[in-house]
Amino acid sequence: MTGHGACCYNITEDPQAPVRRKISGHPVRATRKTAAIGKTGKTKAANIHDRILALLTHLGRPVSAYAILEELGGGTGTRVYPQSVYRALNALIERGLVHKLDSVNAFSVCTHPQQPHDGIHLICDDCGVAEEILDPRVTAMLNKDAESLHFQKRRQAIELHGICGNCRTA
Ligand SMILES: [Zn+2]
Ligand SMILES: [Zn+2]
Repeated sequence: MTGHGACCYNITEDPQAPVRRKISGHPVRATRKTAAIGKTGKTKAANIHDRILALLTHLGRPVSAYAILEELGGGTGTRVYPQSVYRALNALIERGLVHKLDSVNAFSVCTHPQQPHDGIHLICDDCGVAEEILDPRVTAMLNKDAESLHFQKRRQAIELHGICGNCRTA
């Protein structure tokens, strides 16, 4: 099985788990991922899906479910329940708008939601930013290898760790 349906699965993250990365004080880089920052202006009236998408777009890097919960509940005076956040994240993953990055246990907004694809992410160990790349050749090669072993693929998540271009030149 290929395509977006292949990347759907349930999140079983512990809401009490410690925050992996702090949000406050982290520099938000001026990448194309932060271009939709103006969206946050409508979050007051928008539903939780829009608020999560706006938050991930604004931060421009992967964020843990717990950090998302903290951010959504912080300062608004409205209670945000963990189950609502997990449900919303699962729905966003199913719609192909968000990816879960297993190796950092965090969520990232999809930068190519209009094209069905399997996620390939380059994750910077210095600043935590994840760059998503599309390379159908990689998926085609892996599908062929899996087929030759009679392996039925459900989901594909490729995560490369290293140092991003910004951090290398900093
Ligand atoms: Zn994507
Ligand atoms: Zn970096």
